[in-house]
Amino acid sequence: MTSSNEQLIEELRVIVGSDGCLVRPEELFVYECDGMTLDPSRPAIVVLPRCTDEVVRIVKSCRVHDAPFVPRGAGTGLSGGAHAKSDAVVIETSRMNKIIEVDVENRLARVQPGLVNLHLSEAIATHGLYYAPDPSSQQVCTIGGNVAENAGGPHTMKYGATTDHVLAVEFVMPDGEVLRFGHESGFANGYDLTGVSTGSEGTLGIVTEATVRLLEVPESLETLLGIFPDIVSACQAVMQIVGSGLVPAALEIIDQRTIEVVENSAYAAGLPRDAGAVLLAELDGARCALDSQVKRVSDFCREAGAREVRIARDAVERDLFWKARKGSFGAMGRLSPDIYVHDAVVPRAHLPEIIAQVGEIAARHRILIANVFHAGDGNLHPIISFDKRDADELARVLAAGREILEACLAVGGVLTGEHGVGTEKQEFMSLLFSDDDLEAMLSLREAFNPTGCCNPDKVLPVTRACVESNPAARDGLLELIS
Ligand SMILES: Cc1cc2nc3c(=O)[nH]c(=O)nc-3n(C[C@H](O)[C@H](O)[C@H](O)COP(=O)(O)OP(=O)(O)OC[C@H]3O[C@@H](n4cnc5c(N)ncnc54)[C@H](O)[C@@H]3O)c2cc1C
Repeated sequence: MTSSNEQLIEELRVIVGSDGCLVRPEELFVYECDGMTLDPSRPAIVVLPRCTDEVVRIVKSCRVHDAPFVPRGAGTGLSGGAHAKSDAVVIETSRMNKIIEVDVENRLARVQPGLVNLHLSEAIATHGLYYAPDPSSQQVCTIGGNVAENAGGPHTMKYGATTDHVLAVEFVMPDGEVLRFGHESGFANGYDLTGVSTGSEGTLGIVTEATVRLLEVPESLETLLGIFPDIVSACQAVMQIVGSGLVPAALEIIDQRTIEVVENSAYAAGLPRDAGAVLLAELDGARCALDSQVKRVSDFCREAGAREVRIARDAVERDLFWKARKGSFGAMGRLSPDIYVHDAVVPRAHLPEIIAQVGEIAARHRILIANVFHAGDGNLHPIISFDKRDADELARVLAAGREILEACLAVGGVLTGEHGVGTEKQEFMSLLFSDDDLEAMLSLREAFNPTGCCNPDKVLPVTRACVESNPAARDGLLELIS
């Protein structure tokens, strides 16, 4: 450890107390990666602030000591966004987990960034309200992480992603200045900097407070399970349902391999093991409107080949179905020591052909892939099970992952629906964006984060990220591009 690091640690201890400053290897070990475990690296220091003022002081100390810093929530990210190199300070928000205010009349809440997503809905349930974005990780992930990733979830199909529910944010800039973007009215005048900060993956600054929209719990819910002989017919049902103009709250597909794994786990929900795939469809709204919608969805499922459509008998069975869906990534741990979850999006009409290609790619590379995904949004999640200690298998996993992304882009898709770019997909950004597009993104980042000290080397291809704080190299790059 350098003397500058020792001095930084001393300063950080003064700010957050000794118990809020982690430096021992066994403490740092758990911060080696997020949910993307391919490229672990241990940070120098982890610091746990309790309020905005402490975040500001931490950021300023890091600046003085030239230490890069990485914001982190619960570390459930799946694209390496919270990865920190060995010289970095991780600023972890778990002690900033308070609900500051609930305004029932105006249906909004002001929260600290480390609040766990589900805890917000639990806290406001007595008012008949809830917070709509529901990533499958919602029992653990934080609102700050959700804002940074513009997280979605099964109900994004009807209710949109995090960006549709964030009204305003308090933002600590990389130089320690505190800004407020947006307005609780939902009408932000001037540039939409709330929109810019949402989905910025911690590379523009640190969210220290979010004002979010709350929704009324729907009067009624119906949850259906369509049981299909294969995944292609389940995809066809999705296309028919959406094409008809119906707007279900959720349309999720779970394939045969996932069913098998889930049914062998603590998340077992009585899903039929002999099904090729199941479609989990949820409809919500006024009671009087639901019966006809349930019938239409059931009819579309049967027309597409479903042998049976089950309707959840009660809230207990509904919860069981959702537990199976939301627990499915975790259940995959039964198959192998490592999983790698992809997140590309394709236009829905291409789902059947892409799913077929994913199967072909898996077979050719001799790897195990399961599919459980937000079918209504065309948001695929091929989950690759593997053992990263096997170098040959790891190489095949990476090659297959690239081919899956290329196949999705070839039909007009995008690299990520909700998990972000992070370190995982930064090198693929140039497959989707032109040099001019990337240059514009780099300019935006430089406006917020001119030295690149806040969550460095993420999102943009590394060749660009490396030259961010080096104007001479940057000019060289611009020459190359032109
Ligand atoms: C089992 C499982 C299921 C999942 N399901 C979904 C899903 O359905 N939908 C979905 O969208 N995602 C899903 N994810 C991915 C992940 O949960 C989300 O991306 C989530 O938003 C990350 O939140 P976090 O608190 O864990 O953030 P982290 O992983 O700690 O950080 C994620 C990114 O946000 C940045 N960040 C964190 N806090 C702040 C802050 N306060 N200010 C600025 N930047 C910050 C970090 O630097 C990093 O770049 C899933 C993950 C798992 C493991």
